[in-house]
Amino acid sequence: MTSLNDLPIRDDLRGREPYGAPQLDVPYALNTNENPYPPSEALVKAVGEAVMDVAGSLNRYPDRDAVALRDDLAAFLNRDTPGAGLTGRQVWAANGSNEIIQQILQAFGGPGRTALGFEPSYSMHPIITGVSGTRWIDAHRDEDFGLAPERAVAAVAEHRPDVVFLTSPNNPTGTALPLEAIEAVLAAAPGMVVVDEAYAEFRREGTPSALTLLPGNPRLIVTRTMSKAFAMAGTRLGYLAADPAVIDALLLVRLPYHLSAVTQAVARTAVAHEAELLGSVDVLRRERDDLVAWLRAQGLTVADSDANFVLFGRFADRRGVWRSMLDRGVLIREVGPPEWLRVSVGTPGEMAAFRTALKESL
Ligand code: PMP
Repeated sequence: MTSLNDLPIRDDLRGREPYGAPQLDVPYALNTNENPYPPSEALVKAVGEAVMDVAGSLNRYPDRDAVALRDDLAAFLNRDTPGAGLTGRQVWAANGSNEIIQQILQAFGGPGRTALGFEPSYSMHPIITGVSGTRWIDAHRDEDFGLAPERAVAAVAEHRPDVVFLTSPNNPTGTALPLEAIEAVLAAAPGMVVVDEAYAEFRREGTPSALTLLPGNPRLIVTRTMSKAFAMAGTRLGYLAADPAVIDALLLVRLPYHLSAVTQAVARTAVAHEAELLGSVDVLRRERDDLVAWLRAQGLTVADSDANFVLFGRFADRRGVWRSMLDRGVLIREVGPPEWLRVSVGTPGEMAAFRTALKESL
């Protein structure tokens, strides 16, 4: 049998493992931070009709620049952050924000260049960085998972990276980053600053998005996704807001017709049903806050969360707890620092199952 190592694969890919949050068929999947509420019957019908509408022209390539979808997304961001004043020219879309991040690194990273992040954070930032031939630098978060602006600035000044990743709210810790920290990094960074806002819709009232910093900052990129609050993970639609010049750069690396006509049609339908799709955000936030309080009442250590998941610990044998939960049908995530586990916020029924299983596992 031929193995991977028999192939003339790139030396820097040898010994790597594929990204792998386990996809297991379990009663309670609380491991990938999806929105647990499926689309309503009315939305399922609307999606079906939108696909029907494009089906008759699937012999043709889709709109290469996804203009209508980008206009819709810009309008959504202007509702999310009043005053953002975005147009479709400042928005770009791809197959999930992972592809957005890949395109950013293809354009602004590459061999001989560096990207810097503050771990623990989203594990795909260093992975996509490496695959793009860019060197990864981990400047670490603070002990409490925050990021003191002075320390972030010092790390950026020391390493002078081509790309900086900031994640707010941060995965897997749930920590929101104050705008001052982002502004300080922007002022110090010689290259692009990417604020990954995959969980932004879950942020607390009154917390501004980094979108407010876009005017006058052409090296700032804010990334978003429809996979989390928007309850459309299966659609694979991520997007960004930035200066139009940034989008001109991404046009150089994107594959032609990267976003299928079906994806564009479904995503536009989802934006048109924003009220329904984001309607569960308040419920999920309340469930999150209850979950944090309950975990603390069990005597556990819990990171403050502004997202739809919670990092808790600390367990000398986290693998044992994870496995015991799985044995009870509850799949959570072994991620982050060694003694911690992460659970996504689910429906009340899923949370009840999680609580029962955790009590039995402690
Ligand atoms: N950024 C962060 C911080 C994430 O947690 C995730 C998904 N886990 C993504 C980006 C990628 O999401 P998607 O590709 O589904 O948009």
